[in-house]
Amino acid sequence: MAKMNNIEGVINCFGCGACFLKCPKKAIKMEVNRLGQKQPEIDRNSCVNCGICKGVCPVFHNTFADETEVKSAYISVNTNETMLMKSASGGISAALAYRWILNGGYVCGASGIAPSSVNEQFHVEHILLRSIEDIEKIQGSKYVQSDITKVLPEIENLLKQGSRILFFGTSCQVAGIKSYLGKNYENLVTCDLICHGVIGSQMFSNYLKHIERKEKNRLVDVSFRTKERAVPYTFTFTFTFTDKNNNHYKKLLDKNKSSYYRMFLGCIGYRKSCYECKFASVDKPSDITLGDYYEAKDDYPELFETGKLNMSKGISSVIIHSKKGRELFNQCNEDICSYSVDVNKIVSSHAQLQKPSKSKKGSILILQLYKMFGWSGVDRFYMIFDRVMSWIRKSN
Ligand SMILES: Cc1cc2nc3c(=O)[nH]c(=O)nc-3n(C[C@H](O)[C@H](O)[C@H](O)COP(=O)(O)OP(=O)(O)OC[C@H]3O[C@@H](n4cnc5c(N)ncnc54)[C@H](O)[C@@H]3O)c2cc1C
Repeated sequence: MAKMNNIEGVINCFGCGACFLKCPKKAIKMEVNRLGQKQPEIDRNSCVNCGICKGVCPVFHNTFADETEVKSAYISVNTNETMLMKSASGGISAALAYRWILNGGYVCGASGIAPSSVNEQFHVEHILLRSIEDIEKIQGSKYVQSDITKVLPEIENLLKQGSRILFFGTSCQVAGIKSYLGKNYENLVTCDLICHGVIGSQMFSNYLKHIERKEKNRLVDVSFRTKERAVPYTFTFTFTFTDKNNNHYKKLLDKNKSSYYRMFLGCIGYRKSCYECKFASVDKPSDITLGDYYEAKDDYPELFETGKLNMSKGISSVIIHSKKGRELFNQCNEDICSYSVDVNKIVSSHAQLQKPSKSKKGSILILQLYKMFGWSGVDRFYMIFDRVMSWIRKSN
């Protein structure tokens, strides 16, 4: 049989949806697999083998920053306390978004978690915004795959009309956008996150439904990290529920008590492409890379002695790859406190800049339990695991 010139059987698909959007025959659908991840499915009867899907698929192309320059790195923090407190780490993405919007551009980032009105699945998707008040809608890290399929055509139209766009997302999403667009746009600046992998949106949605069932009330908001605690800056869920009288109340769930967080931080249930991520290095497809920097105080104790930097509210690592990235970062001088640092030290302290994540032992069993029993199966696994471990510790 003749070899098909399409993305059928593509290994390590990122789930960006570029192929689905560009197919002239509408022969591609994005289907959800058993782990809740979107994958393209081709209708062989409609496919005319034109190869367009392959042409826009980021898996088949190498994407790099436009006009790259020698990389430079910084430890940075947003000096606006309100913005900083709503951000996952140092609030640099909010500072960049603020300047960009002040200068008349659009910003695109991952929205907060909301049930979709269509099928009541909880959903994270990328949205476009252009008002400073809206920046908070995209602040905070959501440790789940965000859907960019809807915004891709909007981004293309706006860029063609000459609008300026600042995009935030994972490296594979940046590659997806560039591959979808097919050419470099001077009016697009991209900012990616150091990332150790994403779990599919539907799996996360099922986790939230499990939490709702346990609480017997509806969830109205979810935050993945909190800075409200004595030891802030932690991986702790803040769930906001609404009761029968429509009163809202919050509950915190620490990472060690959340089966979702245990899976996520154990690198279990990610997309297949995450375990072979081709962006798990310091060479990125973006103009700027942002990440946490937990080792900042160990690497640069002198910067913390003066009290100018403080780990408790979050610190970001920033790597600039291109001229466009540098120009934007420089525009934020007034809004951030920044120190130039050694890019190699940032690489050494971030495993995700060295190699792809590896899932923990037991992942096959956990995923099988998820497929068979949903989250109650996963919860039970961790409960039994903890009991056994505690018994072993006591008996030693
Ligand atoms: C899935 C994921 C894994 C990560 N893993 C690491 C890691 O291993 N090491 C590390 O140093 N940093 C990691 N980060 C980055 C870190 O959590 C912070 O986002 C980063 O330090 C920037 O912080 P901030 O305070 O500037 O902005 P934040 O308030 O965190 O906002 C960051 C921006 O990221 C966008 N965003 C949020 N969630 C998503 C998502 N699911 N998909 C795409 N874009 C999103 C938002 O639109 C926002 O503009 C990860 C982030 C994500 C989303």
